[in-house]
Amino acid sequence: MRPVARADRGRLYRRYLRHVRSDEVATQVDVRMMERAVSLARAAALHDEVPVGAVLYETATNRVLAEASNTRETENDPCGHAELIAMRQGARALGDWRLTGCTLVVTLEPCHMCAGAIVNARVGRVVYGADDPKAGAVRSLRRVLEDPRLNHRVRAVRGVLAAECGDVLREFFRRKRRQ
Ligand SMILES: [Zn+2]
Repeated sequence: MRPVARADRGRLYRRYLRHVRSDEVATQVDVRMMERAVSLARAAALHDEVPVGAVLYETATNRVLAEASNTRETENDPCGHAELIAMRQGARALGDWRLTGCTLVVTLEPCHMCAGAIVNARVGRVVYGADDPKAGAVRSLRRVLEDPRLNHRVRAVRGVLAAECGDVLREFFRRKRRQ
């Protein structure tokens, strides 16, 4: 195999940096949507669900297509993750399973299952709050959304209202441990 020439490496790295930089910008709409997602997460905690909230919106129009929170406990559904439910509902509302023109906002870094579904649904952008060092598949354990071997790559913005998103989870688990 021919080693990558130095000039090529430089070009590839600059392209990568451009990619990374453009991915790290959250819009004001993203932040507003994240506030909604945080309140959905808070409400889920009242039903003893791990408090994760998600909002799917149309990127060009800011129209909200779906809002969801975890339903694993209430529905006994192993796939009952907020972002998966939001994608299902949103695709139905849109009348198209391809969510290319959509932004998925979720309070916690998506897991492997959800990251896989995000790629399959061709979601345009993902915005998330807290990192999940134990299960996150966007950045923490793997980088599923930017794997060049897959047929679709998704831009991700991380750390939006991360403190609030993380606090909701921490409070929940602290309360659980006391019980
Ligand atoms: Zn998940």
